[in-house]
Amino acid sequence: MTKELNQPLSGNEMPRFGGPATFMRLPTGEITEDIDVGFIGIPFDIGTSNRPGARLAPRQIRDESRMLRPYNMATRAAPFDTLQIADLGDVAINTFNLNSSMEIIESHYDQLLSCDITPLTMGGDHTIVLPILRSLRKKYGKIAVVHVDAHADVNDHMFGEKIAHGTPFRRALEEGLIEADKVVQIGLRGTGYSAEDFDWPREQGFRVVTAEECWYKSLNSLMDEVRAQIGEHPVYISFDIDGLDPAYAPGTGTVEIGGLTVPQGLEIIRGCKGLNVIGGDLVEVSPPYDTTGNTALLASNLLFEMLCVLPDVEYRK
Ligand code: MN
Ligand code: MN
Repeated sequence: MTKELNQPLSGNEMPRFGGPATFMRLPTGEITEDIDVGFIGIPFDIGTSNRPGARLAPRQIRDESRMLRPYNMATRAAPFDTLQIADLGDVAINTFNLNSSMEIIESHYDQLLSCDITPLTMGGDHTIVLPILRSLRKKYGKIAVVHVDAHADVNDHMFGEKIAHGTPFRRALEEGLIEADKVVQIGLRGTGYSAEDFDWPREQGFRVVTAEECWYKSLNSLMDEVRAQIGEHPVYISFDIDGLDPAYAPGTGTVEIGGLTVPQGLEIIRGCKGLNVIGGDLVEVSPPYDTTGNTALLASNLLFEMLCVLPDVEYRK
């Protein structure tokens, strides 16, 4: 290997509050075959139903990623030792037109995938997972999904609209984008439009793990089961920050009490190590409701953890 690998700009070269506001202070990059992993922002929140603001999240997540150093001290993952990683900027969505934005996002990801770039996405509201899955489906066939969320996001419609942030996993199933018996939804809770709201995904074959099933315990054994269930199948991680409790992640649009803890969120992502992870997203951060910046800080760390479980990452002894 002769190419120089990008490294995050060190805090010993430039103060962490200075320098470029890219993800992890990485170099920016173009969509080319030289890039292995790309961090991409989608400043989109016109699919959201309650508090808006996720359009501002990619910039805020980048800013709060400034403290991230290249090595994972818990797992010894060393992603920057072997992979060419860059911040590939934002998708130029049309903020006045949801349907046209779906097409813009899908064709952007088609380009990324044609260069074999693994996408790690900063949302945006959860609507964005639909065009991403549409694109991934063309390359990988039906996708397995590890979906962390307070909500199942399987509504048939919202306010009469088929595409919104509460519908993407029903559309994905209808369109044959995802492998129903390899979809795991973790952290679901709260109130429903009907008592049967979480039965529909179960009837389709999804594994639904409610927040209550996660309370007071480690999720390591759950993730053992998830790895056995998904096996070698290409799997996508879709992490809605509202899966975590609002005590940790208040800066989001659709808040539900009694959520997962930060260590549980880490266990879920770290528990994906060994799976054939083909990409991931972190969605629904809303900076206007994130007065401390901690929600975006958490989001940036969770994206780094996703990077650390990609298949080609090496682990230091
Ligand atoms: Mn969601
Ligand atoms: Mn949610």
